[in-house]
Amino acid sequence: MKNQARKNAVRARMEDTAERYTRARREIIIAASISAHSTASKVISTLHRATGLSIPACGEIYHSGAATPQRPVPDAVSPELRHLEMKVFYALMEPFRDNIGAMGYILGLEAVEPWPDGIVLIPHGRLWHRVINSLLPSCEPKSGNLYGVAGLRFHEENDSHVSLIDLESNLILKVTRRPDRKGLRTLPLDRTPSGFIPLWQRYPDSPSALEVNEWEFDQGRYRHDTESTAARNMLLSRLLRRVAIINSTAKTHGCINLYDHSRRDAVFEWCCGPTVTTFLNSLGETRFCERVERDPERENDDDAWARALIGNDRVLMRRTYCYIPPGYYLYRRTKDPSDFLRDA
Ligand SMILES: [Zn+2]
Repeated sequence: MKNQARKNAVRARMEDTAERYTRARREIIIAASISAHSTASKVISTLHRATGLSIPACGEIYHSGAATPQRPVPDAVSPELRHLEMKVFYALMEPFRDNIGAMGYILGLEAVEPWPDGIVLIPHGRLWHRVINSLLPSCEPKSGNLYGVAGLRFHEENDSHVSLIDLESNLILKVTRRPDRKGLRTLPLDRTPSGFIPLWQRYPDSPSALEVNEWEFDQGRYRHDTESTAARNMLLSRLLRRVAIINSTAKTHGCINLYDHSRRDAVFEWCCGPTVTTFLNSLGETRFCERVERDPERENDDDAWARALIGNDRVLMRRTYCYIPPGYYLYRRTKDPSDFLRDA
């Protein structure tokens, strides 16, 4: 009897141990799946907030392995692609600068699809013509000024995209199709103001001398500092790949002041909208730069600035008190040299 009781006690202890073991194992499995799930959803939602891309499309990028917790927004892997994205950034910066017609899409873009080996631009439907017209290079002969991406040409189009080829790198830049689904070749070029030469049309297969000169300038031939040129390209490529964060600065007035100093940097100036801290935090969440510099004397978020840096190259952010007088945009719109880029 005593023996039987001991046996029962041993069995009970074994069953208890087995049950505890099974329960612990189940808990570990559940915890692992929750952790995997939360990692995926965290990366996907960060990517969505940064790019403006839909959640399913962000999921596709995540599941391809291109977006990771360490780098939720994939970088352009090759220097050539980063160089092309820098040119795209500058080409779209000027025509939408300080213009309420940008409707809060300060590069004309609603979203981007960032892949390691390429990028797809997704313009806002009503700004499609302006975006394409701003990308394809044209020249104002009196001043010799070049607008657009030097060396960009029409390549082909299918049901979903227009493909443009960069003659400098032979890389393809994809833009989603225009909302009315008409082909790029039906673009109303006669809207170009007299005097502007559409270089992409006049020289369909080779770059013009003006464009080659621009290539040399962008490659840093006049800067004598190729390392710094590479850092600038990385910063601007990353900015383009975070277009929804950029757009957040234009929430209040629909546009911001955005400019550069001889294509060395980018300056964002806005009033109202997010604070510099909020803007920096959104960029920081996506591992944007190497370091940030701020003026400790001016930490007041109503009037503050910060620099985001890679090496010595930088993006400057400045938020100030509201400076928009009534009627300002109407005045600027009539003076806007890019008025010819207005929607068809
Ligand atoms: Zn304001």
